[in-house]
Formats: sequence, C-alpha cells, structure tokens
Amino acid sequence: MSLALFDSVQALTGVGPKTAQALKGLGINTVYDLLYYFPFRYEQLQTLPLAELSDGQKAVVKGIVVTEPTVSYYGYHRSRLSFKLQIDHAVVMVNFFNQPWLHKQITVNKPLAVYGTFQKARLAVTGMKLVAANSDDKMAPVYSVSQHLHQKTLLKLIKQVLPLAKQTGNVIPADWRDQRQFLTDEQIILGMQTPKDIQAGEAARRSAIFREFFLFELQLQHLLHQNSGQTGIAKHYQLPAVNELTKSLPFELTHDQKQAVNQIFIDLKQPRQMRRLLEGDVGSGKTVVAVYAMYSAVTAGYQACLMAPTEILAHQHFEKVQQLLQPFGVRIALLTGSTSAKEKAEIQAELADGTINVVIGTHALIQPAIKFNRLGLAIIDEQHRFGVNQRRDLLAKGDKVDQLSMTATPIPRTLALSLYGQTAVSEIRQLPAGRKPIKSAWVTSNQLREVLTKMKEQLAQGRQIYVVTPLIAASEKTDLKNAQELQARLAAYFKEQTVALLDGQMPGEQKEKIMAAFAAGQINILVATSVIEVGVDVANANLMIIFDADRFGLSQLHQLRGRIGRGTYQSYCYFVADPKNEQAKQRLEIVASTNDGFKLAAEDLKLRGQGNLFGQAQSGLPTFQVGDIVQNNDLLMLAAQAAKETLTADPDLTEADHAYAAKVLKYKQTFI
Ligand code: ADP
Ligand code: MG
Repeated sequence: MSLALFDSVQALTGVGPKTAQALKGLGINTVYDLLYYFPFRYEQLQTLPLAELSDGQKAVVKGIVVTEPTVSYYGYHRSRLSFKLQIDHAVVMVNFFNQPWLHKQITVNKPLAVYGTFQKARLAVTGMKLVAANSDDKMAPVYSVSQHLHQKTLLKLIKQVLPLAKQTGNVIPADWRDQRQFLTDEQIILGMQTPKDIQAGEAARRSAIFREFFLFELQLQHLLHQNSGQTGIAKHYQLPAVNELTKSLPFELTHDQKQAVNQIFIDLKQPRQMRRLLEGDVGSGKTVVAVYAMYSAVTAGYQACLMAPTEILAHQHFEKVQQLLQPFGVRIALLTGSTSAKEKAEIQAELADGTINVVIGTHALIQPAIKFNRLGLAIIDEQHRFGVNQRRDLLAKGDKVDQLSMTATPIPRTLALSLYGQTAVSEIRQLPAGRKPIKSAWVTSNQLREVLTKMKEQLAQGRQIYVVTPLIAASEKTDLKNAQELQARLAAYFKEQTVALLDGQMPGEQKEKIMAAFAAGQINILVATSVIEVGVDVANANLMIIFDADRFGLSQLHQLRGRIGRGTYQSYCYFVADPKNEQAKQRLEIVASTNDGFKLAAEDLKLRGQGNLFGQAQSGLPTFQVGDIVQNNDLLMLAAQAAKETLTADPDLTEADHAYAAKVLKYKQTFI
C-alpha cells in the first residue's frame, strides 16, 4: 500500500468510520496530522532496582507476585486493587486505584512489571499500568486522547505512518536551522514520536515548538502584510453627534473608558489602519467603548460591525447597542446562525446597499454572502475565540478596515503584537463607581447548607441566582453534578421559584428566550454550563454557585464570576469543590481571595507554566500544540523575527526553501 502525506486517515489499516470520527475529534484528518500529533509527555519505562528509586519517583519495577490480588470497593465508583510483589529481597505493596479489571492479569508466582510511583517510607508502589516484561529502557509516548480513542490505537496508527516522515519537506528555512541548531521536519517527527532518550526528546521539542510558532507567525504576519498597517482611511467623525451620545448615557464614563475612547478617536482620524486591543477586566465596561467607536465611524459615513463568539453574547450586544444608538437614527441589525433565511436575505441586501449602519453578529458575519457597502470599522469581542483566518475574512469585507479587538485577558504588549499583531493597547483598569467587590468563598460539598441558606436569603430579597456546572448530561464515567440533575433538584427544593436550565447545545433561539426571561426576572435560578461565561449582563443577579469549580481554569472561573457584581447589590460567589491535589487547592484559594483579573491572569500564567494541560484553552490565549507562549516566549519572539525576515525576502513563499511551509499553510487553509 502506498500512502501519501496528505491522504485521509481512512486509507490506513484499522481505521474505519468510527475511528476516523474519533481522530477528527482530535483534529487528525490525514497522515500529515498523525505525523505531527506529538505526545505531550513520555513515560520512562525503565526498570530500576528498588535501591536506586527515590521517594515519589515514577518507574517500572519488576518482581514476582506473592499474594492473591484483592479488590475492595468504596465510595462512588472507586476501588483499590492490592497485592504484594517480591522485588529482589524486599516485598513491596502494590495498589492500583479504580482499575479493578487488571485483577485478571495478576497471577501468584508469576513475574510482573508495574509502572507506578514509588513510596519509599511505606515501601509501596501506586501502580499506573502494567507493562510488558520486555519493554526495557524506552521512552513511551503519552498522547492527549479522548474517551473515544485509546492511547494504544493512536500509537499503532502513528507507528504505521512513521515511515512517511521522510516524505516531508522542511518548514524551518535552512539558514535558521543552521544558525540556531533547529532540526529538519523528519528529525522533529522521529525525535518527538520515538525519542532515544530525554535529551533527544528535548531537542526535538525545542524545534517542534519553533516550527509551530513559525507557522503561526507566517500566517499572522501575512495577514498583517495584506492589511498593511501603513496606510488606512481617515474617518472624519462628527464630534457634536458623539457628544450627544455622551449626554444620553445613564452614567458617566470612567477615566479609563474616556482615555480608551480618546485613543480610538485619534486612531480613527489618522490615515493609518487602526489595530488596537482593548483590554479590560470583566465588568469594566468595554461594550460602551465599542459603541463610541461604532457610532463615530457611522457619523463619518462608514458601516461598523461587531463580531462576538456566541449567540447569547451577540444578542446582548445587539440589545445594548440598539438601546444606545437607535435614538440617533442608527440602523442596527443582528445576524447569527439562527437568523431566519428571510431575515438574513433582508439584512444582506441592506448591508450591501448601506441602509444598515451597524451589524452585530457571530461567525455568521464572515460568510461569503455577507457584503458591505462601506465597512470602515470591525470590532471583535473576546478575540482569542477567533482564529487568524476568521479575523482576516472579516477584515476582507472592506477596504483597509480599522480594527478594534476586545479581551478580558490582560497580556503584555509584546505578546499582543506577536500573537495578534496588535500594535496598540488600551487598558481599562478601574471598574465603574458604585460597584461593591464580590465576596467569594471556596466551600467543600460538606458545606452546601451554608450555600443554600445564602440562596434563600437572596431570593427572599428578590435577587436572582446563577448555578454553574461543568457538565450537561449524566455520564457514568464521572460523579460530577450535572446540569439537568441539578436543575431538577433545585426545582424540587425551591418550590416557589422558577428554576431554568441553559446549555450550550440548545438551539440559539431557545437560549435567547431563556436569557431574555432571566433578564426580565421571570427566572429566579438559572442552572447553566459555561455558556454564560462571556458577556452575559443581568444586574439583578448577584449570587453565583459554581459546582466542581476545580474543573474550570482560573481565568474561566474569573470570567464566570464576572457575570455577577454588575449592579449595586452586594454579590456573592461560591466555588464548590473537593480538590485532591495541591495545585487545584491553590487555584481555588487564589480565585476566592481576589477579584483582580490582572493579578489572576498573572497567577494563571505562573501556574500554567507548571504544565497545566488545560490551562491555555481556558485562559483566553491562543492554543498551541507543543509551544507554551509563556515558557517558550523566547522561541515565540525568535519565530516572529524569522517569519518577518522570511516574508520580507519572499512575500508569497514561492522560493523552493519555503515551498513546504507554503504547502502546510495552504493545507491548514489559513494562507492565501
Ligand atoms: P465588559 O467589559 O465585561 O464587557 P460591559 O461592557 O458588559 O463589561 O459592562 C458591564 C456593565 O457595566 C454594563 O451593565 C454597563 O452598562 C455598565 N457600565 C459600563 N460603564 C459604566 C460606567 N462608566 N458607569 C456605570 N456603569 C457602567
Ligand atoms: Mg464584554
């Protein structure tokens, strides 16, 4: 069988539709994707004599089973499998937790090799897995997989395609490889997938990280080059009109908001394309700043758009913008995935002929059918939720469009530049006056009574409550509180109250209806998954309870909490969790102790540096497969420089040395 690099995984032995689907879930569609699907760590399956092991070390120990294995069950779906293993002259206790099925593979008087953690004081091993007795001195790769795909299956497939590594070209240009000791693609693949030893694995990883950053930077800088920041169109907005907006606001802008608005105005007036990032903690009032930007663009004779990552958020923005700008005769439309075909056709026509001044929407805005008459300003909310290509597609809908991106994740200026290509940053550091800091507490599930008391107290005062949980439907694999069950239980407990459920999988229309009912006070308790994470703004809701809070990232918890504390009432947030490990406890302590998003972001980055696998996706920064923007910041900066030099010399990547990088970028559908 002859395979080619970009063949579908379906061409492989052992891949049927089901496995293909599971692979797709991990972003693996082709042989190429498999080759570059790197392990996130290795297990050193090296057999060591007991005497050489230190406390807490992970290793393989080999011995003879000397007692019958016993399995005891306790708690909810928990079990312990125990037996004794004679190693050299010592007898060691081995425990496997929650893997009762291993029992069948353990026979008295037979040799056995166990990979696990050694506990010196107790002369015991906490087993992680059984290994083949002949697997000496190897680094076994560990991949991040899903519940639909087993490590072993993935490993087998990767082994199957490994011979194709020599068909790859090189992403990293030759001079950079020479000068900085980076490896070829083939060396990277082999070194990552089957490292000889730790040093070889580390060398390959360094190159893999640079390669990944370099591709990202090529893509980003190509986008910037197309929308060259040098030229732009000056927007001559009408100050008297804008002043009327200020007079109509129910509040005065904070100092930081005023400053951000002024900075944006200066950008708009310049004949240079704006590329500004607006950073502000949750609840700091970024939306009204966006409204100023859009209105001024409109008074200058341009259209403006605002793209948000979720329908709920787009809907809320729409309501707010309409409330503020409709009195001035601005025509505003909402366009999302659930806009009806008829309505969509109308919006399309009115955007194209310029009748609509401002459009708010989701990804639906970037469909090819959407054309503007004269788009002058594009605002992207929660911009890290969008890829570079999506931002490019939006900007391509007008000529030298000014761009404003908004985020609640504070990042340093150099990162803003290298990750998003933003050249200027505005910060809103202070919250609007009159806000009372949210009182937060971390409680364990034994302390739920305290939480229920608080719920009763606040409901009696007419306030509303968010209850957040990480999962939707009951799953046998976990004992997490799930949203449906929680809703049923709360409804039974609070008989007088309306308890509703909101989840991400509901059709957009239904979500909007529920949110509208909650905003109108018709729902007292809203049980939700993290769909309410961004943007939702209901000032009367002042209590939030987050179940299994340790399942969320630090920044995500902060985002969630940002849904309350928006009115003048004292707000309360309870993080309910029974974490087992130190880092999880630390995170809960931090988030319960401060409301300062800038401080939390710094802590989050610090903790993530310690290798929190899920941190990045939740922190509001783009995700890389191997690279960590904090830990590998030097490589990121170097990659940015390499991409710049490469594109300056060869803007369309037509030279032979850049052919493979161009091919890869095209394959990823992010280039040209
Ligand atoms: P975020 O920065 O999280 O997007 P929003 O723009 O949703 O914050 O603003 C949060 C809430 O604060 C909104 O209800 C908004 O109307 C209100 N708000 C914004 N600016 C001010 C201000 N200067 N004074 C009082 N309330 C404000
Ligand atoms: Mg917002």
